[in-house]
Amino acid sequence: MADKVERLKTLIIGSGPAGYTAAIYAARADLNPVVYTGMEPGGQLTTTTEVDNFPGYPEGVDGPSMMIDLQKQAERFGTEVRMGMATAVEFSDEVGGIHKVTIDNDKVIEAETVIISTGATAKYLGLPSEQKLRGGGVSACAVCDGFFYKGQDVAIVGAGDTAAEEASYLANICSKVTMLVRKDHMRASKAMQHRVNSLKNIEIRYNTEVDEVLGDQVVEGLRMVNNLTGEKEEIAITGLFVAIGHKPNTDIFKGQLEMDETGYLITKGKSTKTSKPGVFASGDVQDKEYRQAVTAAGTGCMAALDAERYLATIESAEEVSTQ
Ligand SMILES: Cc1cc2nc3c(=O)[nH]c(=O)nc-3n(C[C@H](O)[C@H](O)[C@H](O)COP(=O)(O)OP(=O)(O)OC[C@H]3O[C@@H](n4cnc5c(N)ncnc54)[C@H](O)[C@@H]3O)c2cc1C
Repeated sequence: MADKVERLKTLIIGSGPAGYTAAIYAARADLNPVVYTGMEPGGQLTTTTEVDNFPGYPEGVDGPSMMIDLQKQAERFGTEVRMGMATAVEFSDEVGGIHKVTIDNDKVIEAETVIISTGATAKYLGLPSEQKLRGGGVSACAVCDGFFYKGQDVAIVGAGDTAAEEASYLANICSKVTMLVRKDHMRASKAMQHRVNSLKNIEIRYNTEVDEVLGDQVVEGLRMVNNLTGEKEEIAITGLFVAIGHKPNTDIFKGQLEMDETGYLITKGKSTKTSKPGVFASGDVQDKEYRQAVTAAGTGCMAALDAERYLATIESAEEVSTQ
């Protein structure tokens, strides 16, 4: 059992833009970080072909290549990247306490600081035609991919604030946006509904669901079904945006860290500090507002700096107490 317990200064859970950026900063500060990749090494960007909005890539970059670049940069400064899932946690309440994280239900890591960068997973409808065309015109991120459909007809599914926000965003770029709302009303706030209703190139279809996404390699159209009458209708579109919510990957932190009502980790003020001393959160797992690679990377940097300062404060307090 002894070799299954390891002591670290900084453990980073998750290998998306937040986790790897935290690793770059932590490694350069001599915190000897270890990153556990989880089930999706490289994170959400490995599911997309074109990233055009991350600074430093003038010609754009495909998601998997960008994440390999980030991993290599983290490794250049000594980060150790390991395959494995955090399956349980026991965080200390004490300043300077040791946090325990179990990996793959087997190995236990004892860490002075933990940076959580486990991201959030976009929800999809689950239709086979939708899954087949993910990356071929089906997207869960209008801000990321809307630009590729400039001047074209697209559709969006969803009825909440995010869907309304993304529909308005798309309406500024695309010729026409058909918005599919499952019920006879939207969930979005009145202000957001007003915004959507005021845009002439958004057509809202209530009581309407996706029956099938049409197209072989890329999206060519959509068959919609009215869930009251059963009537089906096909429209020509080139992009389908699914805006039915995200699920933050925080199940293992329940009961350990403060979360909001939808499971996003709560951080204090402008910092990445969670409700436990020495545990920090960065990226989409604590941000339901922006959810972009560059903002995830920014908070990854902040988490590493917060961890470094936390450790420095503890070390100087220990020095004073031994004098
Ligand atoms: C299709 C698509 C296209 C996108 N395009 C763009 C774009 O063009 N530009 C842009 O800025 N943003 C884009 N985004 C959004 C962007 O991908 C996210 O904002 C960003 O990846 C968030 O980074 P993150 O590090 O917080 O989390 P993620 O990238 O979600 O990474 C989370 C990591 O945590 C790991 N993990 C989860 N649970 C555990 C666990 N228990 N133990 C260990 N590891 C765990 C996962 O394996 C993964 O490595 C896109 C998103 C999608 C879905």
